[in-house]
Amino acid sequence: MTFELSILGSNGALPAHGRHPTAQILNHNECYFLLDCGEGTQMRLDANNLKRGRINQIFISHLHGDHYYGLMGLITSYILLGRQQKLTVFAPPGLQSIIDVHIDIHDPNNGFEIEIIELPEPNSPALCYESSAIEVYYFPLQHRITCYGYFFKEVKQKRNVIKSKIEEYNLSVEEIIALKDGHNINRNGTDIQNKLLTKDPKAQRSYAYCTDTLPIAHHFNLLKNCDLLYHESTFLHDDEERALQTFHTTTKQAAAVAKQLNAHQLIIGHFSAKYKNLDPLLQEAKAIFENSALALEGEKFKIAYQQVAELNAQ
Ligand SMILES: [Zn+2]
Ligand SMILES: [Zn+2]
Repeated sequence: MTFELSILGSNGALPAHGRHPTAQILNHNECYFLLDCGEGTQMRLDANNLKRGRINQIFISHLHGDHYYGLMGLITSYILLGRQQKLTVFAPPGLQSIIDVHIDIHDPNNGFEIEIIELPEPNSPALCYESSAIEVYYFPLQHRITCYGYFFKEVKQKRNVIKSKIEEYNLSVEEIIALKDGHNINRNGTDIQNKLLTKDPKAQRSYAYCTDTLPIAHHFNLLKNCDLLYHESTFLHDDEERALQTFHTTTKQAAAVAKQLNAHQLIIGHFSAKYKNLDPLLQEAKAIFENSALALEGEKFKIAYQQVAELNAQ
């Protein structure tokens, strides 16, 4: 099952050096979740061959322009293209009135439903979306305005019945369903243990998205052992004071968060326009957390199943 992150935009407040404001597509089993929607997102979708029509859920971290000014353009395109299916946008409070103004002027009778879910500020991570395949939690970050991170986790799958056992025990459909749910079955008055007939399901893969924040995400237990962590890293560490004043994170701090969360891989992004060359940021992160990468536009990151041995070592 596909679980892959595409970086569409990874620069901080200003577009610079060919880099665009923040936007990402998280593809889970061909469902596209759009994370933030900075200016230029539609062009970036096009450049990456990602179909905008596949997006049904959008998650906005906060209402600084570099994270949502592309939304109005995207919605306008949906109206022009005659979109039918519902679009749901999750965001901190305030987005509904902004969207309403634009839609009323453009076309109050657009053909599709846009549901804006203004999430109330939570004290701890809270579920905001779930399907049969994935759960999404939001959690409070610490920025100059209300800002949320999002955590995507696959739903736990049922147990796998071992094929050869179906024949060996002549299992009925009802028994297979019971085994998948973790129950034992009975033969001639004797219980046959579930674990003799089934295998563990695959691990639940996860992705944590933390942008525009002071380095606080390591306080959330939910994010522990996540497979992939995106963390903003606006500045090199010699700009630590500036990062603190503007409620941002340095590369060293982002790497320390990844280490404390025991993440499998870290991607750093939201780079300040002052850096043309990003190598020093990567080197600083790698010195603390080796499995770090830059959120370069056009890059894709597969979210892989971690090896059992690796999980046991954690
Ligand atoms: Zn920003
Ligand atoms: Zn911001």
